[in-house]
Amino acid sequence: MKSQKEEYFAGSSEEKDGAGSDEALLEPLPEFAELREESPMRVGAHVSIAGHIYEAVDRAISYGCDCMQIFSRSPRSWRAKEISQEDSAEFRKRREHAGIDPVVVHIPYLVNLCSVDHMLYKKSTQEFAADLDRAALIGADYFVTHVGSHKGAGEEKGLAQISKALRIILTEDPSDVLVLLENTSGTANSIGHTFQQLRAIIEAVDIPGRLGICFDTAHGFEAGYDIATLEGLEMTLAELSHWIGMEHLKVIHANDSKTALNSRSDRHEHIGKGQIGLEGFRTIVNHPLLRGLPFILETPHDKLGGYEVDIPLLRSLRRAR
Ligand SMILES: [Zn+2]
Ligand SMILES: [Zn+2]
Repeated sequence: MKSQKEEYFAGSSEEKDGAGSDEALLEPLPEFAELREESPMRVGAHVSIAGHIYEAVDRAISYGCDCMQIFSRSPRSWRAKEISQEDSAEFRKRREHAGIDPVVVHIPYLVNLCSVDHMLYKKSTQEFAADLDRAALIGADYFVTHVGSHKGAGEEKGLAQISKALRIILTEDPSDVLVLLENTSGTANSIGHTFQQLRAIIEAVDIPGRLGICFDTAHGFEAGYDIATLEGLEMTLAELSHWIGMEHLKVIHANDSKTALNSRSDRHEHIGKGQIGLEGFRTIVNHPLLRGLPFILETPHDKLGGYEVDIPLLRSLRRAR
């Protein structure tokens, strides 16, 4: 009989070692692809929480979102304003009334669970746990986190730090908010730009049902996954399926990339204006394995406009079945 862990991760890391190296990676699509194919498209964006947190829902509605992402607090400061019971109730009410689903909370930038600096690590784990509480308070479905930076201590140490931290945090957390590890663009010392690394964390934390994946298209492309072409997208999904399992992919961050394939730099661009391009996004939003997922934009607001341009554009790429 298979152990729970073997079921959780179908396939073994010893058998294959990455896309392109083994034909068998491109095996038949999982059965649930058919379900996703029938799903209506859900598009949303990362919106500001300026004012009261529930005003974020109004902003999302004004952009025509049917899903949304927020920071639950200022992302560049350790200080967090308390969310009152009234405000969280109002957030839930407005969100439900508007049919916004899912709601995603993104971790603040200062948190680094990979840090080997004792003070920063301690502060990061405290803030992570507190932010997860806040996500539960407003009824969020997912909590997205970057893996972090080992700051020169090495990938192995960094992975060990975050795995230890997440294991403790999730063991003590009573909520059912699913924590999603977001792939990164692979800038110097950062961890989480390969599916292998994300799997290593999920496996080390070893708490089934509490961790999943958020795939950022710009980050993936910048880290070397060529999702701008159908062939490259399928190789990427086959790798994701092999290392993580497609059923654990819950959210797509739909961002074009200012920089080239494998540039290892994190620069978001408007949909269709970057290196992934309109045809790349047409392939992505219509792929049977991705059609049913929420697409959340984190694209810039500049002279070319903002979400009011990018959201309808992304929607227009969807083909009817
Ligand atoms: Zn992202
Ligand atoms: Zn980014």
